[in-house]
Amino acid sequence: MGHIVLMDEPLSNKIAAGEVVERPASVVKELVENAIDAGGNSIEVRLEEAGLTSIRVTDNGKGMDAEDALLCFSRHATSKIGNEHDLFRIRTLGFRGEALASIAAVSKVDMKTSDGESGGCRIRIEGTRIIGQEPAAYRKGTDITVSQLFFNTPARLKYMKTIQTELGHSIDYMNRAALSHPGIAFRLIHNGQEHLRTSGSGNLLKVISDIYGAGTARKMLSFSGESADYEVSGYCALPDITRASKNYMTVLVNGRWVKSFAVTKAVIDAYHTYLPIGRYPIAVIDIKGDPYLTDVNVHPAKQQIRLSKEPELCALIRDAVRRAVAGSIGAPAAKPPK
Ligand code: ADP
Ligand code: MG
Repeated sequence: MGHIVLMDEPLSNKIAAGEVVERPASVVKELVENAIDAGGNSIEVRLEEAGLTSIRVTDNGKGMDAEDALLCFSRHATSKIGNEHDLFRIRTLGFRGEALASIAAVSKVDMKTSDGESGGCRIRIEGTRIIGQEPAAYRKGTDITVSQLFFNTPARLKYMKTIQTELGHSIDYMNRAALSHPGIAFRLIHNGQEHLRTSGSGNLLKVISDIYGAGTARKMLSFSGESADYEVSGYCALPDITRASKNYMTVLVNGRWVKSFAVTKAVIDAYHTYLPIGRYPIAVIDIKGDPYLTDVNVHPAKQQIRLSKEPELCALIRDAVRRAVAGSIGAPAAKPPK
């Protein structure tokens, strides 16, 4: 008799969770991405103890009916791709159908949701075990609370850093979510204190002002450019305000915040000698292109990306930013937001 056995689903979910759910900010990211994909225009995140005690995300998106509300916690359950062809044309932030199953495997989840038609429902899960499932009145949208993260994986819990560090990761993610979706009103509250609030007006410069301050927003230059395959636009700061870290450059590809060494290098190169040594610009680089040019299925967290025709894209960005920066010397910056 052989030695190989197939794992049961709770065990494989717990293993997958190790990749998807690294820390509270990973949960915030997955839940907020689901809320964005659900298509609403208001997303509120409430954290207690940096999310280690609880993470609550409320959206006014399309919600789910009772059947989907249960199914969404199964591994590989997704409404976002149906076949192999779709994998190359992804327009949503999610598609792997793994996040909720992974989160539920390592925490206690309480979710209320309604599609606005079939009446709402409430589902409670503890480490993959369904402990409650009942009809519950709720408006259209979803309200999900994840508490006691890593309660059943003590090794992971021990690895958590200080509240400040964990909170910092969530704030950073929320800032980027707001920058990538100026049309959505975001709110982040930690232990009752508000850390981020955007209006959802659709104005990117206004979001930059909400996050980096009105003074910085007044020093932003707008840039744009177009090539055969890509369209780029965004804002970059006048070279007289710089930062000691590259973290103030946000690269967005079709609404997804990604980490791209090549794109950030193109932006830095565009400033050429205007940047003091060891200083970096503040910039938001919004890249649009056909999804078939971008492969996001590189890592479960989807922050790494493979871009086709990357040299063409980087040249486009370098030229657009360079034009804005060179043209600004002595000229006024972007119009300050209202
Ligand atoms: P993925 O986002 O990759 O599809 P998830 O595990 O994150 O996988 O979510 C599974 C499914 O649950 C989604 O495809 C979606 O249909 C549904 N879902 C999750 N969160 C929400 C939400 N906030 N509003 C509406 N539907 C949701
Ligand atoms: Mg998802």
